[in-house]
Amino acid sequence: MPDGGVEPAAAECERGEAASWRPAQAGGVELLVILDGASEPPRDGRPTSLERAATPALDALCAEGALTRLRTVAPWLEAGSEHAIPALLGWTPPASVDRGAVEAAARGIAVEDGERACRIDVRHAADGARADAAQALPALAVALPSHRLHLLGGHRLLAVARAPLPGLDPLVAFGAALASAPASALASAPALASASAGERDVAREGLTLHPWREGIVPPRILDARTVVIAAPGAAAGLARLLGARVITPAGATGRPGSDLAAKAAAALGVLRDATAGASNGAAGARCGDGPGPGPGPGPASVERIVVHVGAPDEAAHEHDAAAKIAAIEAADRDLIAPLAAALRARAGAVGSPLDGTASRPVDTLRVCPDHGCDPADGRHDATPVPCVTWSPQSAPRTAQAGPRFETDAPRAAQTAPRIAADAPRTAKTAPRIAADAPRAAQTAPRIAADAPRAAQTAPRLTERAVAALPLTLPVELATSVRAAA
Ligand SMILES: [Zn+2]
Repeated sequence: MPDGGVEPAAAECERGEAASWRPAQAGGVELLVILDGASEPPRDGRPTSLERAATPALDALCAEGALTRLRTVAPWLEAGSEHAIPALLGWTPPASVDRGAVEAAARGIAVEDGERACRIDVRHAADGARADAAQALPALAVALPSHRLHLLGGHRLLAVARAPLPGLDPLVAFGAALASAPASALASAPALASASAGERDVAREGLTLHPWREGIVPPRILDARTVVIAAPGAAAGLARLLGARVITPAGATGRPGSDLAAKAAAALGVLRDATAGASNGAAGARCGDGPGPGPGPGPASVERIVVHVGAPDEAAHEHDAAAKIAAIEAADRDLIAPLAAALRARAGAVGSPLDGTASRPVDTLRVCPDHGCDPADGRHDATPVPCVTWSPQSAPRTAQAGPRFETDAPRAAQTAPRIAADAPRTAKTAPRIAADAPRAAQTAPRIAADAPRAAQTAPRLTERAVAALPLTLPVELATSVRAAA
């Protein structure tokens, strides 16, 4: 498939599909890490950010887990988190999602019946670069006197009112709005009270407004069995509208430098509560949000924990290739590594399926971008993304098989004499089994020695690694994970 193209696969996606989520097994937990905008189209043979980033934790998941190529953006939609994240959560939008409703939900901004929240992006007219939305407030206060204006951080703001947005589409030059406003209106505009003279000057310098078009509001198809850990941005808003429980740890900004360790701690807290709740027989689900892993739904009801990482996308929008790579590496180190370790410990705490002592249902950890965002042009990309699905209880690849065989070998060698001692009773079979033991012991080191080589050649979570794989949809992936359990 050519880079960045839209594949003729509309029939693959059912519009408005709402998949009811079920874990791999009852009691199993799915962890999903969404690396926002982390992929990008491979261009001219140049390595992508995912290829350039050093990601040992992700590499280990890929060596032991399964890679898929995932279409997260339906062919009829624009590439963006407002369309890709709902698909990852189980709902394929039938039409463009209302970004204003998402932003309001993300921040708890009230939108009354009959009102509409419109997100407006502010850019410099000269080069289209993102501008500080605060610079736009003075002119907007004049242009939209009946709207409530909220700064959302960076270049984003929200205008809420019953009235439609007048004259903002097509784009208007900001300076014009400000220059044409009578001095008395400027003086009485509420937002101007806090605007400095400098801000007013900047506003005259030609900013452009980019209102997002109206769209549909995601339906409430989830409940508190899904917990989404995210900064107050699109992922949190989408999750809240879909009905999931949302946790925003202090320090989570959705930008480079965001406190990923705090997100990991929040996820591990939910996982720990789910583990304790399951062993205590706790049950029951309450819908709604919680500030942290403390109060919330019955812990045993948690089936899926989603952690959103916004920094790769933000860095790519700012054309900062190094910051995008650093953001991916930080997610690998501060988030993915501890989550994988926790799932390994959780599986080990109840024994191993290999010796028949396992009672823990299958947990899974999935990592994928929601969509691409190329730092070369700062634009989103709808190309299907690479995705890895891993479980500590499964060992489909040689890399994990090696050490496991090595561990089993001494046990096999010990077992053989005991079986040999049974020989008088089972005269025919025992000697053969005993004779096999040394051979098994010899084989194990060879398999173990293969592990490093397998790890070196194992595919990584990259665009090129999955380029030849068949296309999968998020809902299909959930189904296949269930089937494999
Ligand atoms: Zn973006």
